[in-house]
Amino acid sequence: MNKIPPFDVSQQYQQIGDRLNQAAIDVLASGQYVGGQVVTQFEQSFGEYIGSQHSVACNSGTDALYLAMRALDIGAGDEVITVPFTFFSSAETISMTGAKPVFIDIEAHSFNMNVDLIESAITERTKAIMPVHLFGRPTDMTKLMAIAQKHNLYVIEDCAQATGASYAGARVGNIGHVGCFSFYPTKNLGGCGDGGMITTNDAAIATKFRILREHGSPKRYYHDYIGMNSRLDSLQAALLQVKLPYLEQWNHQRRQISDRYTQLLQAANLPNVITPHHCPHSVWNQYTICIGAGKRDYVQSQLRDRQIITMIYYPLPLHLQEVYKDLGYAKGAFPVTEDICDRVLSLPMFPELSEAQQQQVVEALAEILTNV
Ligand SMILES: *Cc1c(COP(=O)(O)O)cnc(C)c1O
Repeated sequence: MNKIPPFDVSQQYQQIGDRLNQAAIDVLASGQYVGGQVVTQFEQSFGEYIGSQHSVACNSGTDALYLAMRALDIGAGDEVITVPFTFFSSAETISMTGAKPVFIDIEAHSFNMNVDLIESAITERTKAIMPVHLFGRPTDMTKLMAIAQKHNLYVIEDCAQATGASYAGARVGNIGHVGCFSFYPTKNLGGCGDGGMITTNDAAIATKFRILREHGSPKRYYHDYIGMNSRLDSLQAALLQVKLPYLEQWNHQRRQISDRYTQLLQAANLPNVITPHHCPHSVWNQYTICIGAGKRDYVQSQLRDRQIITMIYYPLPLHLQEVYKDLGYAKGAFPVTEDICDRVLSLPMFPELSEAQQQQVVEALAEILTNV
């Protein structure tokens, strides 16, 4: 039996390698390795795809989040509300600004922020809400935006896992005040290295972000802020420009794969498996099932023995991380998140995953779960 990896980014290279090679050669020959036309072109193409008026590239999704909050003047003494069930960057970047992450629990069915809990977490220090569109699925933005407006809070969308997802007709990243994207290779639009972008309809945010990513310098050797060096390499911009037109097709394939997983799993009627809630506007960065309490790690290792590699996003919630001891959250603070962390299992998911491979995964799960 052939090994089934959790993701396989080299398959895109097999599909469009010639075009990627040519784009890379063009940049190498041009001598323009930082900035230049290829970067502005990609910024513009990406902004058009999202539908935002402004889009500014940077070196990673992490930098996009951090510099977006800096552009909004978020810092020491401020609080930003986010979820404890996400990649560390979401909270890490809040802390990097000097502000304090304030966590609220998620919904079990969507794995996203339970927006009904936002208001109970708002204090006079709250400056912003950071929803994370986890695994490709949009957060309930209608309710969230109404609460933000009522309390005069900024909304920073962490879109790192949801490039191309939409909510009520708008693309994520074009709903809050600023959208933050990652082009890390395993994201839906992945480069061949690190990369990030913000999208916004607020010219002031875009301008300040642009200055901050270049040493806080509106004009070379004149510095208005403490910024950093966070540019998107010309090489990455050129490669991403080649890949962007394929994103819709790849996201469509991910949707088909997720539908097929759900059909196969439901037909197998497995005890101890909960399939993810159907969501037509998700872009399925991950297909994540929940396994009965106490059985997840056994199932994962049994799958590994059968050459099927799965992932656990995320094993330890952020409020229980060593680094956040001082925030004072106890175990039990966020029961849904804590329960989910013990039960989630992300199955192999990438646009080129074949039907036969999916069948192999589900058959293996059936074999394992009828014996636990
Ligand atoms: C990947 C990711 C980030 C960070 O993006 P990088 O480009 O790796 O810095 C932030 N938030 C979430 C939810 C992510 O999945």
